[in-house]
Amino acid sequence: MAFSTVLLDIEGTVCPISFVKETLFPYFLQQVDSLTQSREPQVQDLLSQFKVEDVKAHIRDLVARDVKDPILKQLQGVIWQHGYASGQITAPVYADAINFIKSTNKPVYIYSSGSVKAQQLLFQYVRGSDKAIDLRPEIMGYYDINTSGVKTKSESYRNIARDIGCDPNDILFISDNVLELEAAQKAGLKSKLAIRPGNYPVEDLSAYDTISDFAQL
Ligand SMILES: [Mg+2]
Repeated sequence: MAFSTVLLDIEGTVCPISFVKETLFPYFLQQVDSLTQSREPQVQDLLSQFKVEDVKAHIRDLVARDVKDPILKQLQGVIWQHGYASGQITAPVYADAINFIKSTNKPVYIYSSGSVKAQQLLFQYVRGSDKAIDLRPEIMGYYDINTSGVKTKSESYRNIARDIGCDPNDILFISDNVLELEAAQKAGLKSKLAIRPGNYPVEDLSAYDTISDFAQL
């Protein structure tokens, strides 16, 4: 498989899918009660954009239903920043993914539903053996639903290829979500299905080119 550029999903691909549900979401929910008392102008501005009476209930509802709400995503980015910066959160990126991102000579880009800000935080505070590893210098760019559209639409992948400035055919996209892979393929990208512990089972694995360790790249 020939490709010059790599586009990576995050959850279920470079780190466990459980990181978001079992670490990031609970951390955010713990902070919801104190949000309305926050003196941070950025937090207050985002809260006012919801335009609802009971902002805490609204946020809890969005989180419970896993709604990809752009304001919620930005708010989570701000709250998680505090968690990472204080050392309460580190990102459990798989060792083989860290090695690949550090050692490949191909440009690596990220495409995740989480906001660009949340993505950058994750790669800034990657869990290392003694201290956090900052992978940001190794990553050429980040895309999210605000910059490029939802991950299950082909158009989003065409937008990204155009932004990177290369032929879709030169890009390898890796994700654990088959709907995302199909959308990327329709846009002309190459794709591989990430197989990681805890990922949702895929019915017909033989239909996909799979990868369980980035050393295979
Ligand atoms: Mg994923």
